[in-house]
Amino acid sequence: MTSASVIISKGREKPIIQQHPWIFSGAIDSIKGNPTPGDIVTVVSAEDKFLARGYWNPNSQIQVRILTWHDETIDDAWWRARIQSAIAARAHHPNLTAQRLVNAENDYLPGLVVDRYGDWLVLQALTLGIETRRALLTDILANIVKPQGIYERSDVDVRSREGLTHAEGVLWGEAPPARIEIDEYGLRILVDVRKGHKTGYYLDQLENRAQLRSLLAPKHLVLPNDFRFINLFSYTGSFGLHALASGAGYVCNVDSYREALQTGEEIIRLNNPDWISRTDSVMADAFELLRDHAKSGESFDLVVLDPPKFAHSAGQVEKAARGYKDLNLHAFKIVKPGGYMMTFSCSGAVSADLFQKIVFGALADSGRQAQIVKHLEQAPDHPVALTFPEGGYLKGLLLRVL
Ligand code: SAH
Repeated sequence: MTSASVIISKGREKPIIQQHPWIFSGAIDSIKGNPTPGDIVTVVSAEDKFLARGYWNPNSQIQVRILTWHDETIDDAWWRARIQSAIAARAHHPNLTAQRLVNAENDYLPGLVVDRYGDWLVLQALTLGIETRRALLTDILANIVKPQGIYERSDVDVRSREGLTHAEGVLWGEAPPARIEIDEYGLRILVDVRKGHKTGYYLDQLENRAQLRSLLAPKHLVLPNDFRFINLFSYTGSFGLHALASGAGYVCNVDSYREALQTGEEIIRLNNPDWISRTDSVMADAFELLRDHAKSGESFDLVVLDPPKFAHSAGQVEKAARGYKDLNLHAFKIVKPGGYMMTFSCSGAVSADLFQKIVFGALADSGRQAQIVKHLEQAPDHPVALTFPEGGYLKGLLLRVL
């Protein structure tokens, strides 16, 4: 058992009791003992009552990340059991070989993200507490999952708030190939875990892509047989691939990242060489392209709008809102009457409510009408702990535009 204690200021224990996993420095009265940064500490109230146990980083605004609200020992076996339980909660689907296995705070493992791509795991350590235990966690993952290799992609800027720099490379086993092939409900996708975005791919959108396909396939959405689709902010074009598999007559993938578009074309050929003639890959600024199409009257039966994060903090919400409004306004203008639009925001600071209001504002300015067919959110392997609303960030709307 650890000897160091973090004593919470009087009246500041409520969020801890309500099981929010973060303790900010402002809620801390004093530290008893001599913990080293990254150590496990016991969190007690001003009356010396046990509250929680977690890891400590005096150089972070979030000084403690809580691991347990029970008076239990945090040893190697504890970490193993937690990881095992996160993995056991993920369903196995024969046509799904990529999945988030550990979703940090939301799986009660603050600071740790683990994604599986085929036979490889990609680990992201967001905090010092995880960084100091990287070797142990790697061993546990190797032991439970038995992958071919584990690769680190801790190249995220939030690490600087923990006093950490970027870290990348092989942690265990074999180096991953330049591209790992994964199966996304029967479609073949190539993932570059070294240079790709996030840990290589947008797993959080996986179910929304599948949703689009299932809505198109049994013709729940009434679209012409050879419908025209523009996939804005396409990355490697997975929404487009699902649309091609559902009979799209034309798919235009648009992104500003050339390599992603090139990989996207390779992926299309890999799945069905005939599909390439029905596809365009356009390297462009999506804002400008939308404006041009809106002006020239170019229109589509289906529009997907999946921009990167606009608001990185609460202070950026207003500016982000203007960006979303502009984008959605021009997108409404290029949807054919009776067509559909899937519009997303992955800014955690923009709530689903606010996003819907922004889209409503854009609609009003566009002079169109629209119905919400479905509310969309992040995939179920990215669960949100109910005590940690910060864990929910992706929201979207499937709209029918009149
Ligand atoms: N829909 C994708 C994920 C998109 S992530 C999927 O399902 O996999 C956002 C994408 O926006 C990234 O690929 C990024 O390269 C691209 N992007 C960022 N700014 C852009 C801009 N101004 N114009 C076009 N694409 C942009």
